[in-house]
Amino acid sequence: MTVKIKDKKFKVAISSEKIQKRVSEIAQEMNQKLAGKDVVLISILNGSFMFASDLMKKITFDAKITFLKLASYDADASTGKVKRLIGINESLKDKTVVVIEDIVDTGITMESILWQLKGYQPKEVIIASLLFKKEAFKKDYKIDYIGFDMPNEFLIGYGLDYDGYGRNYGEIYSLILGEKKEINNVLLFGAPGSGKGTQSKEIIKKYNLVHLSTGDILRYAIETNTKLGQEAKQYMDRGGFVPDKLVLDLIEQRLEMNIGTSGFIFDGFPRTVEQAKSLDDLMNKKNLNISGMIALDVEIPELKQRLLKRAKTGNRVDDTPEIIENRIRIYKEKTAPVMEYYKERNKLHVINGSGKIDDIFKEISKIMDTF
Ligand code: AMP
Repeated sequence: MTVKIKDKKFKVAISSEKIQKRVSEIAQEMNQKLAGKDVVLISILNGSFMFASDLMKKITFDAKITFLKLASYDADASTGKVKRLIGINESLKDKTVVVIEDIVDTGITMESILWQLKGYQPKEVIIASLLFKKEAFKKDYKIDYIGFDMPNEFLIGYGLDYDGYGRNYGEIYSLILGEKKEINNVLLFGAPGSGKGTQSKEIIKKYNLVHLSTGDILRYAIETNTKLGQEAKQYMDRGGFVPDKLVLDLIEQRLEMNIGTSGFIFDGFPRTVEQAKSLDDLMNKKNLNISGMIALDVEIPELKQRLLKRAKTGNRVDDTPEIIENRIRIYKEKTAPVMEYYKERNKLHVINGSGKIDDIFKEISKIMDTF
């Protein structure tokens, strides 16, 4: 059986009978292992509500259940950042916490959940995920209970959604791939301070794209003190580049996390010609394409002025006068040549990046509408 949601068609991947049977098996295993413990089940909203509900009906030991949500870190849901866990209003101290998820793919979200839960001093944290994408998983922690190993496909049903719909099905469905997907992947390019972040916010709203800012993701990794953050910090504090390997892994993970979106706006990547070549390889591998590059052209003195102004109100450690000089020097040497790379491929669109934010956005829109 197939179902259609908006522009996409899906076919059954796991029947509801199979799901129910597997949920019963997991519940039985939990009944043996967790009986007698002080258990709190934590269902991560929205996706896991069906799994949590069916599982809860089948367990026989005493357990509380609570529902938590992942809130976007900066109140901007489309940045693709790992999110903050909200809604914990009971003590988890010395409890056996069972995190219930619908799906674990790259593992980034679950890693962040585990890290945040640690602060509540539970006795132990156990993970139960109905679905697990082995191929996409990039982490090394253990998932204690897995319902089904899944290939790296876009899935809906039984709590999982496409753009908010499809959660109601009792089965799990996978996306039927058509011809090459028409996705608008756009590169927003410019020197530090050229307004990429500001314009990205408008673009994602109007064109329904996912914002993929390597700078934002790296800064968040530093704030949350992840391994990636610890490594990136030493380079970023000086205004230097984070090694390609780290940045490319991060881009690949984000692309996988967002299968099924209408496209990405890349901000701060690619920053070198080598990164541009690697991006081409990655796009080919994933059967995606780049619609074009929009470059914001701003004179160097104005860039410096803007960054120094931001330094007064913002909290970026790399906005000091010396580091700003360093970032602009590296931009001229290593990043500016990336424009040439896309020019040779007829993908470069340069627009004047000084002036009113609204006027610049109008110019960007004109180009976006041709993609
Ligand atoms: P941004 O927010 O784009 O100005 O990036 C801030 C800092 O993050 C840069 O100065 C680099 O240290 C690091 N960074 C961001 N994107 C990349 C990238 N594509 N390659 C290497 N380092 C990056």
